[in-house]
Amino acid sequence: MIRRRAFLAGVAATAVAGACSRGGDGEGGGGSGVSGAPDTAPEVPALPPSLPAGLFALGVASGDPLTDSVILWTRLVSDPQADGGGLPDQPLPVRWEVAADDAFDDVVASGDAVAEPALAHAVHVDASGLEPGTWYWYRFSVGETASPVGRTRTAPAGDDVDRLRFAFASCQNFQAGFWPAYDHMTAEDLDLIVHLGDYIYEDGPDPGAVRSYVSPAPTDLSGYRRRLAEYRSDPALQAAHARVPWVCTWDDHEVRNNYAGDVPDRPDEASVSAEQFRQRRADAYQAYYEHMPLRVDPPNGAELTLYRTVGWGDLARFYVLDGRQYRSDQACDADQDVGIVCAEADDDDRTMLGVDQEAWLGRRLGESDATWNVVAQQTIVSPIVVPLGDAAGGNLDQWDGYRAARRRLVDQLREVDNPVILTGDIHASGVGLVSEDPDDPASPPAVPELVGTSISSGFPPDLVALVEAAAAASPAVRYVEARRRGYVVVDVTAEELRADFRYVSTVDTPQADIATGATWVVAAGDPEPRPA
Ligand code: FE
Ligand code: CA
Repeated sequence: MIRRRAFLAGVAATAVAGACSRGGDGEGGGGSGVSGAPDTAPEVPALPPSLPAGLFALGVASGDPLTDSVILWTRLVSDPQADGGGLPDQPLPVRWEVAADDAFDDVVASGDAVAEPALAHAVHVDASGLEPGTWYWYRFSVGETASPVGRTRTAPAGDDVDRLRFAFASCQNFQAGFWPAYDHMTAEDLDLIVHLGDYIYEDGPDPGAVRSYVSPAPTDLSGYRRRLAEYRSDPALQAAHARVPWVCTWDDHEVRNNYAGDVPDRPDEASVSAEQFRQRRADAYQAYYEHMPLRVDPPNGAELTLYRTVGWGDLARFYVLDGRQYRSDQACDADQDVGIVCAEADDDDRTMLGVDQEAWLGRRLGESDATWNVVAQQTIVSPIVVPLGDAAGGNLDQWDGYRAARRRLVDQLREVDNPVILTGDIHASGVGLVSEDPDDPASPPAVPELVGTSISSGFPPDLVALVEAAAAASPAVRYVEARRRGYVVVDVTAEELRADFRYVSTVDTPQADIATGATWVVAAGDPEPRPA
């Protein structure tokens, strides 16, 4: 074993696989296990005499920027579809560098990390000692083998931040189509990409799909690793990850459709024990952690504290929520998402975020001095009336099935300036306006909601008419578009938040055209979204 210190240019930049510092400008996670960056470099294992080719086949990524640091990610593999990625079952040394230029003439931070087989040879480096509001380039190397170069940036500091431009996305079912949306996102002038979940899907291979999985339907750690590695092998997704830092949360399909806390979805409930589902969740969470550029601690069994904040000076702050891990089971015995909303949906003790996350959110909002307070979460908050024959139904997987929790959320958001909710999950675009009492549309307007369509996941064509009828029946809804796939680009200034709904012409081919289908603006001080 070789032990060496890796300090360069006086920068105490250190990295340990799986250990991430929190704090910085006060942003960071909700877990209690706050770990500071150690002040010595890790013990670096010796390089084996030979290593297979293709070590960086899954690319590089960065995420969760603070004003002085950013998480750098890679995962070493040889064969992404082999158990253990095809690499030897031993820790491997990974060198990392951050430079002020893409030629790496001016390296400002570097160090050694360890890729551990227990974490699938994934590396999460907390590259610290960086300047605020600055673009950087980064790369990894193992011996003489260098990774592709990624570009990333730190968050700006202070009160002179005049701009934030980010895109948000969700729902990228691989078999439902290609991801030309990511080619276009890579070409946009963005600071960040925010992903709201359904980063993978857990379905099995479909030989009739536009592109079929190699990996079987995942149910265990090996399976979820293979599935995530298959997604991360896509060149358009890799390029988007390498272009800007990402801020990610998950929804249900990272584990299993419509799961709720410890409860699997209804078709599984009879056949899968709680213990079996906990194990499945643990495996899925670990594989997700291993493949994402997250500033969070590694999972502890079936627990992974994913909720956290990301700040952008005094201009904006993201509250990244987890609406899956702690939620109550869907109400009213609905066997689909959509059903008749019964009295159970109103129960005070039903929760979407769990007691701890709710309290954390309240504390974080209470200390915010950001102009825009942006909630990055999964399912639709605006009340949606789904006409079912003569009855008024609802989607019980959304906040409509968690009404008391929704009232508490809106009460919390009313405490800050300019709250805005970002939402994924539904594979359709929308704009909504949540009232002070969400279940009383006559109460004053409170929080605008932007719902992004899917990157590729389909919206059933035979349900388009139903969603349009639901929008027409729902006073909170301002805009809906279910036919088109894409993402949303959001420009934020102190005066307004402007959302361009960007749509690709097709997901049946890797390349497609892009067009802005709608633009909605929220002016600071007025929650009513208006078409531009
Ligand atoms: Fe989805
Ligand atoms: Ca979903």
